[in-house]
Amino acid sequence: MNSNESVLYIVPTPIGNLLDITNRAIYILNNVNYIITENIKRTYFLLDYFSIKKSHLYLLNQHNEHKQVNYLLNILKKNKVMALICNAGTPLISDPGYRLVYKCKKLGIRVIPLPGPCAAITALSASGLPPNRFCYEGFLSSKRSKRIKQLKLLFYEPRTIIIYESTHRVIALLEDIIKVFNDNRYIVLAKELTKVWENIYGAPVNELINYIKNNSINIKGEITLIIQGYLGPKNINYIKALDVFIKLKKLLPISTSLSIVKSIFKVKRNILYKNFINLKD
Ligand code: SAM
Repeated sequence: MNSNESVLYIVPTPIGNLLDITNRAIYILNNVNYIITENIKRTYFLLDYFSIKKSHLYLLNQHNEHKQVNYLLNILKKNKVMALICNAGTPLISDPGYRLVYKCKKLGIRVIPLPGPCAAITALSASGLPPNRFCYEGFLSSKRSKRIKQLKLLFYEPRTIIIYESTHRVIALLEDIIKVFNDNRYIVLAKELTKVWENIYGAPVNELINYIKNNSINIKGEITLIIQGYLGPKNINYIKALDVFIKLKKLLPISTSLSIVKSIFKVKRNILYKNFINLKD
C-alpha cells in the first residue's frame, strides 16, 4: 500500500455470514491509516472478530454526512489512506458515502473499490428471474402516497426490479404492488441472506402475501425483493389497449371487451389477447 498518495478504499463487509469477508478486505482494513464507518460499535465487533487493531474510527452517517465530509477530506488530503465501510454490504448502496466519493473524485483523490457482499446482487443471483438486465430501486418511500407514485413509474419497467424493504412494511408494500400493478406479478422474497434462517421464496404476489402471513416472515430479519419486470406489450397503443381491456373485462364478457377495445385502439384482437395472457401468466 503506497502511503505517498491519498486513497479512499470502498470496502464491502458481510451481510450476515462473517466468512464472506474477502482476504483483500481484511488486508486493506489492517493497513489503512483510518477507517470511516457508519456505526462505531458494530465496526469494532467486526474488527475484533478478524483481529484488526484500530485505535480510532471516524463516523460517517446520514446525520453528520454534510459536516463530516469536509473534515474527512482534510485528513485524506494529507496523503492518508482511508477505508470506508458500512454496517453490512457495499458502502453507498442505500448506505452513506456518496458525498465523500463525489468530492474525492472532484479533488482528484484516488478512490479504489473492492468487490464484495451486496444484498441486492446476492438476492438477484438466486432469484430465478432474468439477471441480465435489472434496475436497483433501493428503499421505496415509507409514505404510502409517495410509494404508490413510485410504483406507478415502475409498472412498465421491463427489467428485473430490486427493492430493499424492512420486514414490518413488506406486506404493505406487496399490497400496494397488487393495487398498482394489477397483474399478480411474480416476486422473489430473499430473507436473511447468508444467515442461518436464509429463506428465498418466489411466487405470484397474492400467494407471496399468504406465504409471509402463514410463516410469520414479517416479524423480524432483513428482506430484499426481486420483482419480475413488465412482460406486457411494448407498443404504447397496445399498452393503452390492454389497460382498458383489463378494466372492461371485469364488467363485460371477454369477447365483447376485445371487440370494443379493438375498434377504439385499432389493435389486433389475437395480439391483444396474447399480451393479456402473457401478463396474467
Ligand atoms: N449496503 C447494503 C448492501 O450492499 O446490500 C444495503 C444496506 S441497506 C441500509 C439494508 C437493507 O439491505 C436491508 O433493509 C435489506 O433490505 C437489505 N439486506 C441487507 N442484508 C440483507 C440480508 N442478509 N438478506 C436480505 N436482505 C438484506
